Amino acid sequence: MQLLNQSGHAMPDREQVSTTTWLQALIDALCELSSRDPLTGLSNRRQFELALASEIDRVARAGEPALVLMIDIDHFKKVNDTHGHPAGDQVLKGVALALQECIRPMDTLARFGGEEFAMILPNCPPSFGLTVAERVRTKVQGRDVVIAPGQQVRVSVSIGGAFAPQWVRSSATLWVERADQQLYRAKAEGRNRACLEQPPVSLVSAEEKGLLFGTSQFQDLE
Ligand code: GH3
Ligand code: MG
Ligand code: MG
Repeated sequence: MQLLNQSGHAMPDREQVSTTTWLQALIDALCELSSRDPLTGLSNRRQFELALASEIDRVARAGEPALVLMIDIDHFKKVNDTHGHPAGDQVLKGVALALQECIRPMDTLARFGGEEFAMILPNCPPSFGLTVAERVRTKVQGRDVVIAPGQQVRVSVSIGGAFAPQWVRSSATLWVERADQQLYRAKAEGRNRACLEQPPVSLVSAEEKGLLFGTSQFQDLE
């Protein structure tokens, strides 16, 4: 017998419901798989790039400040060389856990690749940027990662950060490149440190002032 719902449409029978539920669960699992890094469980690079694109839209629309941090483990090759690749994997997982403790629900934390992680911090005022980056750095530095019973390793990270240009639609690649330049600076200056690009000071030319305010008024702005 065919059951009808309140709008008079045929109701799916139990078998169909369970097939639909099963298919939905399968789709959800596949989405999860395509967006996660299998080792750390963090967002993968693909998911990071999607989040970055939507953050760029939000910044351009609302003008809220947003920070990207690129975080790279220092001398990680030495961990692999000294303790072996599986121990290196344990360290990557341990660093991922420490980083997770630093983020807010609205932030995105991803494994960008290899021993590099990335964070998107929406609505982060420029004056907080360095404090946030330093909190991340000290969190990792203070963490013992167990690589075998009774054996622990500590690593440090170098961090580079850049703010999204407000009100201007920028490209995701450029934003990450600017943060990456700061990461190179942190490495070059000795590692285990955070370097942030100075947020741009918006300069208004005399001509623009004239356009905005007229010529005779606001002379004191020059
Ligand atoms: P730096 O301080 O300049 O960043 O030096 P580094 O040794 O951290 O950087 P380098 O690029 O020389 O080495 C990165 C190493 O990370 C090399 C690579 O084998 C290792 N690596 C990348 N992905 C994985 C992974 O999934 N597991 C493990 N165990 N190692 C990985
Ligand atoms: Mg490294
Ligand atoms: Mg690296």
